[in-house]
Amino acid sequence: MTPRMPSRASAPPADWRDSLPPAEGRYSYAFLDEGAKREIRRRMLKAVAIPGCQVPFGSREMPIARGWGTGGLQLTLALIGPEDVLKVIDQGADDSVNAVNIKKFVTRVTGVAVTTDTAAATLIQTRHRIPEEPLRPNQLLIFQVPIPEPLRLVEPSERETRRMHAEADYSRMWLYLYEDIVKFNEITVGARYPVLVNRRHLMDPSPIPRWDLPKLDRGEALFLFCAGREKRIYAVPPYTEVQPLAFEDFAFRVEAFAGRRCARCGSVGTYLDEVIDDATGRRTYSCSDTAFCEKALRGNSVKEARPSGEDRA
Ligand SMILES: [Zn+2]
Repeated sequence: MTPRMPSRASAPPADWRDSLPPAEGRYSYAFLDEGAKREIRRRMLKAVAIPGCQVPFGSREMPIARGWGTGGLQLTLALIGPEDVLKVIDQGADDSVNAVNIKKFVTRVTGVAVTTDTAAATLIQTRHRIPEEPLRPNQLLIFQVPIPEPLRLVEPSERETRRMHAEADYSRMWLYLYEDIVKFNEITVGARYPVLVNRRHLMDPSPIPRWDLPKLDRGEALFLFCAGREKRIYAVPPYTEVQPLAFEDFAFRVEAFAGRRCARCGSVGTYLDEVIDDATGRRTYSCSDTAFCEKALRGNSVKEARPSGEDRA
């Protein structure tokens, strides 16, 4: 752990309410009561200590519906301090309804600054993407997770999946991938591709594209995952090995964008969204990470997003 955690737990300054409207000032700092924050922080520490292992926690009621990021929001609120700079993305976009509303809520109950710039953020809450810009050691990336159990694909019983994790018995997941190859001559799992963390725990990386998985491997930032509805927290600490399941003779592959580039900023080597023009039916592509695209447009960023990509497949 970085020495950040103790300072985050320190009390907010007495005047944090001054900048807020009177109605918001009646909440605890960051909405959750101090007991809830303490419990969530303790669960996070356990999750960091056992990378990839799902830790149960008492998920709180939040003022948004379950399934809209209540897990990610609880981690954000338990960790955020007055000096933090917050970024929230939804499928790579800073300006979607979900991202904008979560940002609005967190600033109302904390008064923290928000940004769209990945490099300027200290705390990033995300749904289904990892930013293209490499993350730094003092940054936190918090994932909203719909289904935390990677084995749910092959086993409906919670009791049985717990046993499989305890015994590191992942043979049925291997078999599932093998049968996929036999049937389709490729692994058809797109998002939620199962990964092995620290060579021990099978983990669901949340529905990020396969493209983002190499960024989890030995990353410099702390990755935290939380499913509010399923009441589970798990983590990938910095510099931890994260390997997608693959066979010796059938390598893991990320999505291929060979020969394509962003129609807006011209970048190659970023994860692209397909855009179909309704009038002409023409297909174009644009960066899924809108903040990266903006930066590249302004010429502040290199046009090759990162060293990994198709060549790393
Ligand atoms: Zn772009």
